[in-house]
Amino acid sequence: MSSVSKNIQFDTLGLAPELLSRLAELNYSEPTQIQQRSIPHILQGQDLLAGAKTGSGKTAAFAIPLLQRHLLTAETSERGNYVNSLILVPTRELAQQITDSLISYSVLFARKPKIVTVLGGVSINAQMLKLRGGADFIVATPGRLLDLIASNAVKLSKVKHLVLDEADRMLGLGFADELNQIIKLLPKKRQTLLFSATFPDEIISFADALLNAPVKVQLEQTVETINQRVITVNKPNKTALLAHLIKENNWQQVLVFASAKRTCDHLASKLAKRGITAEVFHSDKAQNARTKLLSAFKTGDIKVLIATDIAARGIDIQKLPVVINFELPRSPADYTHRIGRCGRAGENGEAISLISHDEFHHFNVIDKKNKLELVKEQIIGFEADDEAPLDCPSRDAKPMAKPEGTGKKKRKNKPAVNVDIWGSKTK
Ligand code: AMP
Repeated sequence: MSSVSKNIQFDTLGLAPELLSRLAELNYSEPTQIQQRSIPHILQGQDLLAGAKTGSGKTAAFAIPLLQRHLLTAETSERGNYVNSLILVPTRELAQQITDSLISYSVLFARKPKIVTVLGGVSINAQMLKLRGGADFIVATPGRLLDLIASNAVKLSKVKHLVLDEADRMLGLGFADELNQIIKLLPKKRQTLLFSATFPDEIISFADALLNAPVKVQLEQTVETINQRVITVNKPNKTALLAHLIKENNWQQVLVFASAKRTCDHLASKLAKRGITAEVFHSDKAQNARTKLLSAFKTGDIKVLIATDIAARGIDIQKLPVVINFELPRSPADYTHRIGRCGRAGENGEAISLISHDEFHHFNVIDKKNKLELVKEQIIGFEADDEAPLDCPSRDAKPMAKPEGTGKKKRKNKPAVNVDIWGSKTK
């Protein structure tokens, strides 16, 4: 992976042979920055507030030291339905992915940790059965965890380690109440690790209340390996442009984001008429269908996946080359999460937003807030009209760049200016 310093290696972090051998098997030659800067503190039992770019190796940053504690200190769930480490995440897919990582990292342990995934959309009974006798690790989405607590299937009063991943999302609408209910059930004395890609004000005050003298680790928020582009197009031509780009560039895998479930369905059928097979991924799909779709996409059996923002966070698709915003996300933070699905683990990626006049204003907000300064491009044959309709806010949009010809030409992004979570600017 890129951006790791030369002197800190996994074996200088004091990791157990079972973990070191496994990391070597996985070809993790060096710890990533977030791993270098988090693992020693987590091993010492300190609280942590970490801001790390998506795809930076966050999961291993907390999974490896927690597994090491399990291994060396014989920390284990006591009798009864207690849990030792609780990892809370906003989406089912992320819960499954973190479970898979924990299992993978611990395959060489003589005493395997008991890891239970708790998520909605599947039968609760199987989860109840698995929780009998407690668990070393629970990886959970909040709603189903509360259901299981209400049925006495699990007790949180002996949790020793709490991880909140994608904490900014967890504190947003829909989760904050559930999260607060869960936190009230936890013991005061515990280790808390909070990971978030973005740090809005509510995270800072939540973190102050939740963490005890935390170590603060902040890495850059922009993924430099992603070539970001914005292409203007008249709204009625968007689907045709998307089909053109997919064919012209011969992308083997592309994740397309749309804002509504209906748009995803429509777009898939419109692409089908243009000879492109695409699958859709959104919350109307049953959980087992979602799981199957995602693994088929990860193995390359599905080339075009059209998704709502439920696929925007945490999902790790190795070597995903392209993300397309067919429609813009609601917030600048969501933009960062979406594009972070590509360009992971040091790989190159391309993130392209297709915007029509009615989205210019919103794009400018995203552009400004994320300090992107992207130059608008056009693709020959799909040029947007020069003038926006009279009632359109895009009249004050930035001037457009000259048409880019085939649209294949890449531009270097400006170097990222990073604002750390405590307000100061870094390069
Ligand atoms: P994450 O940010 O946790 O989703 O991780 C992104 C990707 O990086 C995953 O595919 C991990 O398997 C991979 N990864 C994590 N740590 C390392 C490392 N030290 N060396 C190489 N790959 C890594």
